[in-house]
Amino acid sequence: MSHSKSVLIIGGTVVNTSGEVLADVMIDQGVVQEVGPNISAKYAAENEGGPRRIDATSCVVTSAFVDLHTHLREPGREESETIETGSRAAALGGYGAVIAMPNTEPAQDSVAVVEFVRMQGERAGLVDVVPSACITVNRSGLQLSPFHSLAQNGVTLYTDDGNGVQDPVIMRRAMEYAKELNITLMQHCEVSRLTEGAVMHEGCCSSHLGLPGWPSIAEVLMLQRDLELVRETGAKMHFLHLSTARSVELVRQAKNEGLPITAEVTPHHFSLTDEKLSGFNTVFKVNPPLRTMEDIEALRAGMQDGTIDAIATDHAPHAAHLKDQDLQAAPPGMLGLQSALGVAMKYSGCSVQRVIELMSWAPARIAGLTARQGNSVASGNIANLVVFNPAAQWEQSLDQIVSKSQNTPYLGLPLQGQVQCVLRDGKVIVEAGVVTK
Ligand SMILES: [Zn+2]
Repeated sequence: MSHSKSVLIIGGTVVNTSGEVLADVMIDQGVVQEVGPNISAKYAAENEGGPRRIDATSCVVTSAFVDLHTHLREPGREESETIETGSRAAALGGYGAVIAMPNTEPAQDSVAVVEFVRMQGERAGLVDVVPSACITVNRSGLQLSPFHSLAQNGVTLYTDDGNGVQDPVIMRRAMEYAKELNITLMQHCEVSRLTEGAVMHEGCCSSHLGLPGWPSIAEVLMLQRDLELVRETGAKMHFLHLSTARSVELVRQAKNEGLPITAEVTPHHFSLTDEKLSGFNTVFKVNPPLRTMEDIEALRAGMQDGTIDAIATDHAPHAAHLKDQDLQAAPPGMLGLQSALGVAMKYSGCSVQRVIELMSWAPARIAGLTARQGNSVASGNIANLVVFNPAAQWEQSLDQIVSKSQNTPYLGLPLQGQVQCVLRDGKVIVEAGVVTK
């Protein structure tokens, strides 16, 4: 680990699970050394050899965010994103770690590919790039990935994201392994027979527009099946990008019964409705699709009452030539890393502390990353931190986007909550909203 200059974050509100306090934070040797009100007076000024000073007035200082759901596109789709460009977007979004989804080409279904992704993440050196692996070989749903060797190499999260695992025999067997190896399966809930050819949510809007619909029941049926399999096997299961009101209700019931499950929602599913498709703009095509206001309200209630554990971006870059096709041909997905905080603060209806729990503390726990991420800002802990202004109003513009792709749905929409500064291992890698590394 490289030794860096010490850093003093001054005048911010430190937010931890225990509460919030107005305090300065002293960081040295990559670690938080001291947290307390007005400790800055003890240290020499920056121009007299003292620590680098960061003004956090009006800002929150807390643990950096963790994204459970990031498509980095490398290997195989480097025209849309690379691990380096995706890491840059993540750092600017306030993230300290991202889970790299395995639908790459080749897919992350072997130790070799997983290690390649991890190594490219280290080479980029901006955030912890944590590879997940496929549940089935090449995400084909037919044969299980080599769980034992992947787990031995430190992979704790498994998913065929992009596809749901359709075959209940395969899913049941995967869960038996998961239980034995103490790993977590992440399901993309979609019964594919019910969504063939779909481009948007099935409802009033899709009938109006004459477009083939993706019905809510396609998500709900797989979620229900898997909850029963969890009940039977006791395996840990995480549900990706839940989008319907009924899904929230099912997760709430299952948690009340004590099943070992967690669930995430994406920023776009609680901020945008299916009406966005009325202009036939492919930037709003996403899987699962944007739903209705009723669904949005249920997702918000679920985030507020703890039913939903995490906000995950499903950051899905697509090069312009891919999105620049008709709705049927264009791939689903939208950018998310640089806008997630702004959407969460503006549209979730959650308190600042709850947003941090959804974006940092809970996802760090779910991904098993608490050795480095999602910890209190407290003396002795690794300084993987974000400083953000929770009240700042802003709008995203294309020139801010550092992803290789530009498929963001938030241009011209009001956002709130802006990242100022990110520290990785005590080193400032984002300052004043710019990558400094
Ligand atoms: Zn998915």
